[in-house]
Amino acid sequence: MDYRHRLEKLQARLRRKKIDALLVSQPDNRRYLSGYTPADHGIAESTGHLFIPARGTVRLLTDFRYQTIAGLETGLPVSTYSKGLIPLLKELVSETSIQRLAFESHYTLHSTSLKLVELGEQKKIKIVPASGLVEKMRLTKNEQERDLIRQSVRLNERVFQQVYRELTPAMSEIEVALAIETAMRRAGAEKASFETIVAAGPNSALPHASPGTQLIGGNRPVTIDMGLVLAGYCSDMTRSFVLGRPDEEYRRRHRLVRKAQKASIAAVRPDVSMKYVDHCARKVIAGAGYAKAFGHALGHGVGLAVHEAPRVSSRSRQKLKAGMVITIEPGIYFPGWGGIRLENMVIVTEDGCEVLNRDTTSLDL
Ligand code: ZN
Ligand code: ZN
Repeated sequence: MDYRHRLEKLQARLRRKKIDALLVSQPDNRRYLSGYTPADHGIAESTGHLFIPARGTVRLLTDFRYQTIAGLETGLPVSTYSKGLIPLLKELVSETSIQRLAFESHYTLHSTSLKLVELGEQKKIKIVPASGLVEKMRLTKNEQERDLIRQSVRLNERVFQQVYRELTPAMSEIEVALAIETAMRRAGAEKASFETIVAAGPNSALPHASPGTQLIGGNRPVTIDMGLVLAGYCSDMTRSFVLGRPDEEYRRRHRLVRKAQKASIAAVRPDVSMKYVDHCARKVIAGAGYAKAFGHALGHGVGLAVHEAPRVSSRSRQKLKAGMVITIEPGIYFPGWGGIRLENMVIVTEDGCEVLNRDTTSLDL
């Protein structure tokens, strides 16, 4: 990855915005800009920050535990703090002629932001809340990123197919989830990109069900939503099926969701609004009288994070751009009966899109 280029681009943007330095705390943003991999153990337990002056040397700020890996992974000068971030920032601000220091207000504890404001008062500098500066850069993926995402999708599908072949009605949701996550790690994934969803019967009516001890059983709806992280990049795929023979009602509903998914995929191209892409699937489902059963957005961006901008929803005001990677995942849910969701990932290309998924398991009933 060309981290230097990314940092230079961001520094140019800071200069345009008259920001003298930006503190980057969001873990995916840190990784995007520098290759630094350690994840935070929650927002209150940071593994580091990038200190990015509009001009001059970018530094990685961290504590003793990560100082070695920080240097190895990023090649950037590392400043270590022992008494927390704020005292070190004070030193850095004193050494440079910073007048306006920005921080990622969408990924900073309120208590930390209060300390930053206090620091600003002491040092007579302005503290500027900034959000989405790096996320904006992450919206479209370059060729290298697109290729890593393709590989992540491919590996995820291989894992799914391997576990799918061994499914039996006597397995519990948890056993299936465990088989999937074990297979992911064995196949070389860093980890699952989110907690694997395996939901059977009425559980599958919960779009984000957690797997439990109940058996997946035969002749009832099953939904598996899974993704992995490979070299930092995420995949995300959902398949809904019935072990055994699906009845006519299931087939009809499943075909409807697939038709909705295809309608949206056909609409994907640059300059089309997210709203319209969402509408295309929604129209198909509403046409069958199930508008209320499709209560979530159609999709989301995928990259270093499994859920990232853009949101593909009826409330989005954004338009698609070539290089974006998004999911198309319509679903319908009926309490007591179950649910069906089908999720594929696509790359927006100059003249349409590239569907990344090749898996066709139970896709066309
Ligand atoms: Zn998913
Ligand atoms: Zn998704």
